[in-house]
Amino acid sequence: MCSIIGYIGKKIASPIIVNGLKRMEYRGYDSVGVATESENQIELKKGIGKVNEVNLKIHLDKLPGKIGIGHTRWATHGKVTDVNAHPHPSNSGKIAIVHNGIIENFEELKKQLENEGYSFKSETDSEVIANLLQKNYELTGDVKETILKTVSKLKGHFSFVAMFENGQLAAARFHEPLIIGIGKDDFFLSSDVLGFIEYTDDAIYMENGNFVILDKNKFQIFDFNGEHVKYVITKVSKEFGDAYKGDYAHFTLKEIFEQHETILKAGEKTPDAIEKTADYIRHAKNIYITGSGTSYNSALIAKQIFSKYAKIKAETIISSELQFAPDSIEENSILIAISQSGESADVLDAVRIAKEANCKIISIVNLLTSSLARESDIVIGMNCGPEIGVAATKSFTSQLVIIYKIVQKLSNNDITINFEKFSESILKILENPKKIQQIAKELKDISDIYILGRGINYPIAIEAALKLKELTYIHAEGIPGGELKHGPLALMDSNVFVIVFNPNDSTYSDMLTSAREIKARNAKIIGISDIESDVYDYWIEIPKIDEVLYPISEIIPIQLLSYYAALEKNTDPDYPRNLAKSVTVK
Ligand code: GLU
Repeated sequence: MCSIIGYIGKKIASPIIVNGLKRMEYRGYDSVGVATESENQIELKKGIGKVNEVNLKIHLDKLPGKIGIGHTRWATHGKVTDVNAHPHPSNSGKIAIVHNGIIENFEELKKQLENEGYSFKSETDSEVIANLLQKNYELTGDVKETILKTVSKLKGHFSFVAMFENGQLAAARFHEPLIIGIGKDDFFLSSDVLGFIEYTDDAIYMENGNFVILDKNKFQIFDFNGEHVKYVITKVSKEFGDAYKGDYAHFTLKEIFEQHETILKAGEKTPDAIEKTADYIRHAKNIYITGSGTSYNSALIAKQIFSKYAKIKAETIISSELQFAPDSIEENSILIAISQSGESADVLDAVRIAKEANCKIISIVNLLTSSLARESDIVIGMNCGPEIGVAATKSFTSQLVIIYKIVQKLSNNDITINFEKFSESILKILENPKKIQQIAKELKDISDIYILGRGINYPIAIEAALKLKELTYIHAEGIPGGELKHGPLALMDSNVFVIVFNPNDSTYSDMLTSAREIKARNAKIIGISDIESDVYDYWIEIPKIDEVLYPISEIIPIQLLSYYAALEKNTDPDYPRNLAKSVTVK
C-alpha cells in the first residue's frame, strides 16, 4: 500500500527520496510526489503514474534542499488525480505533509477549518492534517505542541510526516507503520525498511501513539501525552534489501520458482517457536486462526489438517470480520495470526480484539520486525525472503509448511513428512511449464473459470481462484465439488473452463463423477491430478506424493497458469491493477 518517506541530513534529499520510493513500489500505489525544503522555502512536485514515469516527466529528483518528504499514494478518499497526490501543502505553503491511512473524521475537521477561512484543493482526507498543523503552529509557534494538538483531533489510522519551513521534520504513528532510519549523519523516516536500507541498517520501529521531531543532528521521540519515550535501535536484516529480479522477467515468476527452496527454510530462523506453539495449543481453551486473502486460505487449510492429523479443533476467522463479532472470541484462548507483511491493518485489528479477550497471540509472518511480530507472544518466521509480487505465492507455501510442522509436533511426530523429497517434486512441476504455457493461451478470452476441490483440496481451489483473479482479472470461483449440482452446474456451457483438483485420495472418484457431469454440459476441463483421464481436455500432472502434502503441490501449477495467462492478457503480473501488497488501510 502507500509509502511515506522523509529525509533530513547532509545530502541532497530528493534523489534519496525517489530511490526509496522506487524500492517500496511493490507495496502498490497510483501516484507519487516529493516536497523539499531549501532556504526556508518548500517546493513540491507530484503526479499520477509510476515513480519512474512521473520522475522522467517532472524531475522529482531535481528538487533542491537537504530536507524532504515523499509519498506513493493508494487512493482511499478522492480520485486518482495529480491534485489528490501527496504531498499536500498547508494554505500558507509553510508546512507540507505526506500521509498513510484514513482520517475518519476529516469531513467534520474540514468544515471547521473552512469556517475559519482555510481552503482545500484536494478531495483527500489527508489535506486536513496540513491545515490543522498550520493552525496549531500559528497558535503555538512550537512543533511539539503543534503535533500534540493535531493528533488529539484526528480519528482513524495514520502515519504522517510533516515538513516545516523552518527545517524541522516531525512524524506521528497511529496504527500505520513508521520506522526511523539512523544514518551516519542523517535520518530517514519510512513505512518500510526498504525505503532506507541502502543507506543504513540501524532502525527504530516507532511504537503506536508516538511521534518524533527531527533536526539535522538530533531527534526526540514522545508519546501522544507529550512524554519522552525510550526507544531501541534494531539492526534490520539486509536480506530484505536484496529485492532484485535476477534473470527472471518478473518478481512473481522468480518467487514461484524459488518455492522448492523456500519451503525448506520455513520456520528455520525461529527454531523453538514451533515447539512452543504446539505447547500453547495443547493447553488452550480455543484456537482461532485468522488472516486476510491468501493468508486466510492458509488458515482454512490449517483448520482441516489440525483436525485430521492432530484431532484438534480450530475456528477460522476472516480478520476484517472479527470487529463485527468480537464476542466470538472466548477469553484465554489462542489466536494464530497469519500475515506475510505483518502490517495488514485488518489482521492487526483482529489481534487487538483477541488481546482484549486475554488471548495469546501466535503469529506466522515473513517480516520478523513487523508490527504483528511485535504484538505477538510467539513469532514463527516464514523466512522466504522478500516477496515483491503483489499476488502471494511463496509466502503461501511457506505458511503451509509451518502449519505442517506445528501439526507434526502436535501429533507427536505421528505423521512423517519428507520435505526434501517434496521439494524435488515441486521442482519437477516447475521445470516443465510448457504444457501450462499452452493452456494459458486458451484462457486468454475466457470470462469465467470455476475450480473444484473436495476435502483439503477445496481451500486450495479457493486460493487458486484468488490467484487467477489477481493475476488475470478473469472471474474465478472455488467450489466444493459436491455443491456443483446445487447451483453452479447451471453455469456450465462451452464458454466455461473448469479446473478440477483430482488427486488420487479419498475424493478421487467423487471428483471424477463431477468432472463427467461438467463434461456432459460441454465445459472444458483442466484436470490437476497424478492420474490421467479421458474426461480432461487438458491434464496437468502432479507427481504422486503423500496425501498430506497435496495442498502445496496443487497450487504450484495454478500459480504458473495464472502467471502465464497474465502474460497472454498483457497484464502486469507483479502489480495487478487496484491491488496493493501491504494492505495497511482498512
Ligand atoms: N487517505 C489518503 C488518500 O486517499 C492516503 C491514502 C494512502 O494511504 O495512500 O489520499
